[in-house]
Amino acid sequence: MFTIGSELKGYFDYDGLGLYLRAHETAEIDGVVVDLRNILGRRFLCDGCCCLQLPDLSGPSRQQVPVKGDCCQGPWVPLSTEEQERIAKHLEGTLPYMAPEARAFVETQLAKGKERRATFCRPVRDREGKDLGVTALRLLGRNCIFRVLHREETGLRVRCAIHGYCLTRGLAPWEVKPLYCWLFPLTLVPLYNGRFLLTVHTRETYQFTQEQKGQATKPCLNSPASNGPWLYQSFASELKHIFGEGFYQKLNALAPQVLGRSGRT
Ligand code: SF4
Ligand code: SF4
Repeated sequence: MFTIGSELKGYFDYDGLGLYLRAHETAEIDGVVVDLRNILGRRFLCDGCCCLQLPDLSGPSRQQVPVKGDCCQGPWVPLSTEEQERIAKHLEGTLPYMAPEARAFVETQLAKGKERRATFCRPVRDREGKDLGVTALRLLGRNCIFRVLHREETGLRVRCAIHGYCLTRGLAPWEVKPLYCWLFPLTLVPLYNGRFLLTVHTRETYQFTQEQKGQATKPCLNSPASNGPWLYQSFASELKHIFGEGFYQKLNALAPQVLGRSGRT
């Protein structure tokens, strides 16, 4: 069996991921290499609105200014067969939480006898139109079909219809929502030694996390509120779900040390 010798290891040590790992502190917990600064030393909260600020609220073109910035606008969300089936199973329940035009689209397609999955899925094609054999969430216009824009007293907020459905039914997001969505902005990067790195899509990592720059530089990632929760706290349920309670306890125990070192407790 082929193994990576010292010569090739040196080659990998100096690519983007290798350089990042050399420059950033990590800790291995239960076989997972954790990017300490991003997982423990970063504040993060999805409030569904910090990404929706309008650039101009005063001028005469106020109504024409496009809302931009959230991660559900123009996302590329691949779906496994199991994920497609889960969403299809909960589709009727999710419909009332969808934006009116998206709901009308799905209902019309269903009335025409379209297969349920075909109403919210799309095949991914390359530039020449060749089917790549991957299924992704459908976009309506530029938005994910499940994206909803709410006008609330405090301003605009982007919401996910699937997430809204899960909350009211007492379901965990991962019971229906695609993995890519409930994991964002966390990500797992395979390493050359069979392990993987737990990190976050950011301006510094997006080239090896395979995220689009625009998604990795949202305000919630680029300029999080200085009094917001730490990312590992916001993602406590997700991290426990993926890696287990024991992993999370060990991660939690490292936090005071990491935050204390960076003077950010
Ligand atoms: S861009 Fe950030 S704040 Fe906006 S919806 Fe996505 S995760 Fe939430
Ligand atoms: S499924 Fe929900 S979280 Fe995922 S892209 Fe669509 S609206 Fe956003």
